[in-house]
Amino acid sequence: MKEINNDIYIIKPYKLGDIDCSVYLIDTKDIDGLISIDPGLYIEPIKNIRQYGFNPKNIKHCLITHGHLDHFGVCYKLKKINPDINYYIHKLDAEKVEQIPYDDNIENYYKGFEYKPVKITKKLQVDNEILKFGDYEIKCIHIPGHTPGSVAYYLETDNSKIIFGGDICGATLQLSGGDLTKYIKSMQKLLELDIDILCDGHLNVIKPAEKVIEFIQICIKMNKYLHIILEEEPNNIKVWYDLTLLEYELGLYDNALDFCNYLLEINPNNSEAKELLKKIKKHNPPKFEFVKNYIKKYFGNQINSK
Ligand SMILES: [Zn+2]
Repeated sequence: MKEINNDIYIIKPYKLGDIDCSVYLIDTKDIDGLISIDPGLYIEPIKNIRQYGFNPKNIKHCLITHGHLDHFGVCYKLKKINPDINYYIHKLDAEKVEQIPYDDNIENYYKGFEYKPVKITKKLQVDNEILKFGDYEIKCIHIPGHTPGSVAYYLETDNSKIIFGGDICGATLQLSGGDLTKYIKSMQKLLELDIDILCDGHLNVIKPAEKVIEFIQICIKMNKYLHIILEEEPNNIKVWYDLTLLEYELGLYDNALDFCNYLLEINPNNSEAKELLKKIKKHNPPKFEFVKNYIKKYFGNQINSK
């Protein structure tokens, strides 16, 4: 647990190979208690806040950035700790939390994870709606793209403009409910805010303002590449390589490994890719078979005949 700004903490930073998200906490120092932003998948990091003098029972509000299990899977356990806890998520993603989630991503990534649905207290539906907790005013900015109901939670302190963006660096692939055009518009909206501190759903805290802008621009580029190779031209070697390099530079070594392996499968003599693979492997990334599964689903037999 680490303080990002006065009374704002990252309680669980994302680490390589971790399927859980980055988890954040705001101490309102008021009857509103503690606010958790994306409580994550596991209860242990939340229980650990005791070490720092906080009580998990005092988490009274839980703001969820979007309806992916790694960001809210722990909700029913939080409710056991505090039955009066309030949950907030955009109405377009709310059913993911209120129903037993079941889709291919869950099968692939969270095998055996047991989830029990919880009722959402407030479904966000108005863009830029303000939620008030103690002295904090949190603006809920609708940023569709990664999912239809993705929300960035924005607040201003005396010295900084802070945003909790969820999966800014996440994919916007159609098969998983994403939308690249909407995502680009949403990111442009964020770029106009002159954000000082971006709390990302997986890549932890990005600051200062120049780095935030650079990061969002890289994420847009990454998603454009992803769209080309996974939805348009799966044999575009140059884009495969550029994307792999981008993922490597971002420190997303598991994605980089997956992309590089696939690139070498379709273009085995690519010496640049072989060199890059060696560098990626030094970080011991876990193995996912995301790319192959996605391509098979999206292109089906069309790709096999090539
Ligand atoms: Zn996500």
